[in-house]
Amino acid sequence: MPLDEYRAKRRFDATPEPSGDVVGGDQPAPAGGRFVVQRHRARRLHYDTRLEMAGVLVSWAVPRGPSLDPRARRLAVRVEDHPLEYFSFEGRIPRGQYGAGDVIVWDWGRWTADPGTPDAIDALEAGELKLRLEGDKLHGGFVLLRTPIRGDRRKWLLIHRRDDEAVDGWDAEDHPLSVKSGRTNDDVAAGRRARPPTQGRVAMLRA
Ligand code: MN
Repeated sequence: MPLDEYRAKRRFDATPEPSGDVVGGDQPAPAGGRFVVQRHRARRLHYDTRLEMAGVLVSWAVPRGPSLDPRARRLAVRVEDHPLEYFSFEGRIPRGQYGAGDVIVWDWGRWTADPGTPDAIDALEAGELKLRLEGDKLHGGFVLLRTPIRGDRRKWLLIHRRDDEAVDGWDAEDHPLSVKSGRTNDDVAAGRRARPPTQGRVAMLRA
């Protein structure tokens, strides 16, 4: 079952993460859906990059984060599928639990497979998915390419393609705020509440 590995790693009486269900897993193979990137400060920092597909979030851990720079060939390690309820998860995973640390919703939006890729699951099986991302931070064409390193089939590369939305030198670490709450990982770790996104606008109207 798709979420068995996800569930086996976690104790849902001890972590605030969702236990989740596979939703609509029998639907036809997708050519797009939602995506989310979560900045997860665990034992090692990484950016969990997840595509909504066939009722789950198909997931990769990207240590240095996605980039808009086509020269940045980011290692992306395929990890276990996550439940759709994980999409907006932000919070602290307690010490001693799997993935202990803090998580923010670093970016979210829609992904679309390139024309000519009618079935994204088939494309992943074949080891190459060309897609577009339209998020708050990430835009443009990307390719996910399986590049087995010493036979490890979990290792992929995430590369921005050379297009109008490519930006040389773009680094995820220069864009640290949650698109959901305006918080940093430090804010979440310290238990600080969301910064109201309308704050600036309200202040402007009062001025
Ligand atoms: Mn993670």
